[in-house]
Amino acid sequence: MKSGEVRMYSCGPTVYNFAHIGNFRAYLFSDLLHRYLTHFKGFNVRWVMNITDIDDKTIQASRKPGDPKANLREFTQKFEAEFLQDLRTLKIAENVSPDSAFAFYKMPRATEHIPEMQDLIVKIIKNGYGYVKDGSMYFNVLKYAKDHRYGRLLAIDLEQFQDGVRIDADEYSKENLKDFALWKEKKEDEPSWDFFFEGKNYAGRPGWHIECSAMSHTYLGDRFDIHTGGVDLKFPHHEDEIAQSVAGYCEDPVNFWCHNEHLLVDRKKMSKSLGNFFTLRDLVKKGIEPKYFRFLILSTHYRKRFHFTLKGVEAAKTAVSRMQETMYKLLELSEKGDGREIGKKKMADLLKKTHKAFGAALDDDLNTPQAVSALFDFLRKLNGLLADNAVSADGALAALSFFKKIDMIFSVFSFQKENLEDSVAQKIAQRNLARKNRDFLMADTIRDELKQQGIELEDTPDGTVWRRR
Ligand code: AMP
Ligand code: ZN
Repeated sequence: MKSGEVRMYSCGPTVYNFAHIGNFRAYLFSDLLHRYLTHFKGFNVRWVMNITDIDDKTIQASRKPGDPKANLREFTQKFEAEFLQDLRTLKIAENVSPDSAFAFYKMPRATEHIPEMQDLIVKIIKNGYGYVKDGSMYFNVLKYAKDHRYGRLLAIDLEQFQDGVRIDADEYSKENLKDFALWKEKKEDEPSWDFFFEGKNYAGRPGWHIECSAMSHTYLGDRFDIHTGGVDLKFPHHEDEIAQSVAGYCEDPVNFWCHNEHLLVDRKKMSKSLGNFFTLRDLVKKGIEPKYFRFLILSTHYRKRFHFTLKGVEAAKTAVSRMQETMYKLLELSEKGDGREIGKKKMADLLKKTHKAFGAALDDDLNTPQAVSALFDFLRKLNGLLADNAVSADGALAALSFFKKIDMIFSVFSFQKENLEDSVAQKIAQRNLARKNRDFLMADTIRDELKQQGIELEDTPDGTVWRRR
C-alpha cells in the first residue's frame, strides 16, 4: 500500500504444547515470503506474528490449584520459550521477537494486549454489530452479513445460520454457523481481566479471533498488505477476523490473504488432535538435521499439500549436500587468486541466466520447486566447468556470491571452509571412537556419510587422512 514497504501479519502459535512440524510449515512459508520480499524485492518489511497465550486450549491445559492467571503465564512461558528455540533452529523469523523494541518487528503476546481488544469490542458494539448477553459479548453475524460480505475467503451458506444461538468455543465448523464470542464471561478458576463497559464490570477474557484483529491493528494500522496462516484458519478464524476489523475499523482491512496448504502424514493432516505429529525434537532424535527439513519445505510449493516422509528428508539432504560440495570447491578455488581469465564470459552468462530463472520462479507466486530446478540446472553446468578446470578464481567468487544471494532465502549453506575442516575432523574422531569400540556399523555409516559429501577417508599407519574426491 505504501511505496517501498510491506506490512505483514502472520497468525502465530497457540502456546499450549510443542509446535509440530506441520505448524512449522506455516511459519516457514511466512519466513519464505518475508525473505523474498526483503532480499529479492528490496521492500522494507514490517512483520508481526502473534503469540496466542490465552484461549480455550491454554486455559484448559494450565488448570491447577492456585492463581489462574499466574498458572497460565507459567505454563505458556515454557512453551513460548520452546517455540522461540525451534524458530531459531529453523532460522525462521530471525530478528523478530516478543521483546523486540521495534513495533513492526514483533511477536506480540495476546495477554499483553487486552485493552486494545476491549477497545475494538466496544467499537463493534457501538457500531451495531455486537451485543451483550449473559455477561459475555457476541458478534452479530446476520446483522453484519446484511451490510457487508461475510464469506470473503470461502463460500458461506447463511441459510445454515442458527439465529438466537451462540457459540462460545474458539474453533467451530461452517456447519456451526452462529454468533461467535468476542468476550467470554469469567468462569470460576479461569484467568480473567476487568472490562468496564456502560457502568458495569464484565470481567472475563477475549475470544480467540478478536486477539488477531486487535494486535494486527495495534502494530500495522487500519489496513495492511498481507496476512498469512494455514488453510484451516480460513474459517472461522480469518473470516471472523475480517468481520471484526470491518465492523470496528474499516472496510478491506487486508489486501492479500496468503494461506499455506497442509503438511500430511499417511494422507492425513498432521495435527495434535489426530495424534499423528512429530515435533522438531522428534526429527532430531531420528538423526535429521533441521536444515534439511527447512530445505525440504521451502522447495515445496506452499499452496500444494505436502506428504511428509523420512525419504523426502533424505532426498533434501542429498540435494543440499550436492550444492554444498560444489560451494566448498568454489571456496578453495576462489582462494587461489590465479588471475586466470578462463571461462569468464561463460560464467557471467550462466549466472545471469540462472539469476533470471530463479527470480522469475519466485515472482510466480513463490514457485520454489521451479526455482530449485533452475538451481540444479546451474549446478550441473557449473560442475561440468569445474571438471574441465574451466573456472577461474574470479569465476568461483562470482558463483559463490550468487549462492550467497540464494541462501538469503534458503539459509542452509555454509560459506566457510573452516567449517568443513572442523566438521570432517569431528566426524573422523567419532569414527575412530566407534572403531575402538568395535562399532563397525557406526564407523561405516560415518564413512558413507562423508563419501556422500565427496570426502574420502584413508586409514594410514599415521591415522586417518581425508581428501576430496
Ligand atoms: P495453531 O497453533 O493450531 O493455531 O496453528 C498454528 C499454525 O499452523 C496455523 O497457521 C495453522 O494453520 C498451521 N497448521 C496447523 N497444522 C498444519 C499442518 N498440518 N500443515 C500446515 N500448517 C498447519
Ligand atoms: Zn490469528
